[in-house]
Amino acid sequence: MALSEPYQLDAHEYRNTLSIGATLFGGQAETLDTLFKQADIAMYHVKNAGRNDFHFFDPKMQHKIEAKNVLEKELRIALQQNQFQMHYQIQVNAQLQALGVEALIRWIHPQRGLVAPNDFITLAEETGLIEPIGLWVLDTACAQLHAWQQDVRTRQWVMAVNVCAKQFKHPDFVAQVRDVLQRHQISAGHLKLELTESLLFENVDATILTMNQLKKMGVRFSLDDFGTGYSSLQYLKRLPLDQLKIDQSFVRDLEGMVSDKTIVHTIIAMAKSLQLDVIAEGVETPEQKQILLEKGCVNFQGFLFGRPMPIAQLEQEWLTN
Ligand code: C2E
Ligand code: MG
Ligand code: MG
Repeated sequence: MALSEPYQLDAHEYRNTLSIGATLFGGQAETLDTLFKQADIAMYHVKNAGRNDFHFFDPKMQHKIEAKNVLEKELRIALQQNQFQMHYQIQVNAQLQALGVEALIRWIHPQRGLVAPNDFITLAEETGLIEPIGLWVLDTACAQLHAWQQDVRTRQWVMAVNVCAKQFKHPDFVAQVRDVLQRHQISAGHLKLELTESLLFENVDATILTMNQLKKMGVRFSLDDFGTGYSSLQYLKRLPLDQLKIDQSFVRDLEGMVSDKTIVHTIIAMAKSLQLDVIAEGVETPEQKQILLEKGCVNFQGFLFGRPMPIAQLEQEWLTN
């Protein structure tokens, strides 16, 4: 309490917040070093949970940190040993014609098997590993796009690639995209970058600048997971977007929840008034597709049409009759 009181230094008033970590001992054989380490872990736990609090060390905290360290080490090995694979999920129109795909990364772990991106992308962002991983994704997806552009059946397909904040904000990002487009000699209009609301609105002016540079090359943009963040209409209007992607959480309950119907209806109307394309993700049932169609959404992605799958399987399903 006394330490959180404001105090005066020169003409300025200062305030401190206090984060305290503690560990209990007595009778155990822990060394002094271990005890300090435990108290330190508890303190960082407090800091990460919003600071200005007190917490005792709990062995679970240590397990979490250790598991994260192991994952980070394995992620580095995964990069060196090419343990990543791209899966592709089809996107279709109302007549079920293929419009393109979304590229979704998979980690084929030698012991754990297939690891989903939600289990490692955040850590990759925190550790900076997202940079080489993101480059590998772009390169692999664009190599595939090049192959499709040589085939009359797939020439018009658009490749959607997810880009997270750390990648997008990298000072070399525009140059990296330009390089990959040139290297694979693909027409940029067939590359669609999927960005999220939180990414776009962190620093809107810088975002718009980067987007405009990419837009000039012909690259397209889709706003992923739309409706889950805090998009301001004012900003949405200023962003050079091409598409809004209705988040699957709204699609999931379309048949039951009146509120989700209203949200979806509003998103579609908003997209129309902003002259943006709209696509729904996570479409699993014909009923969901029907409701979306009635509300004016004519682009779809979801298990109803196809799961994310390796390239050979995708081509088998969509390119052979
Ligand atoms: P996202 O971009 O919103 O991708 C859609 C997710 O929904 C995918 O999960 C996809 O498999 C899943 N999905 C598609 N259709 C359905 C459906 O009908 N029902 C249900 N329940 N789920 C469906 P996934 O592949 O596990 O990816 C999760 C997230 O990880 C992605 O969300 C994206 O944010 C991120 N991610 C995936 N690949 C990459 C990548 O290459 N780079 C980056 N930066 N992030 C990626
Ligand atoms: Mg996506
Ligand atoms: Mg999404």
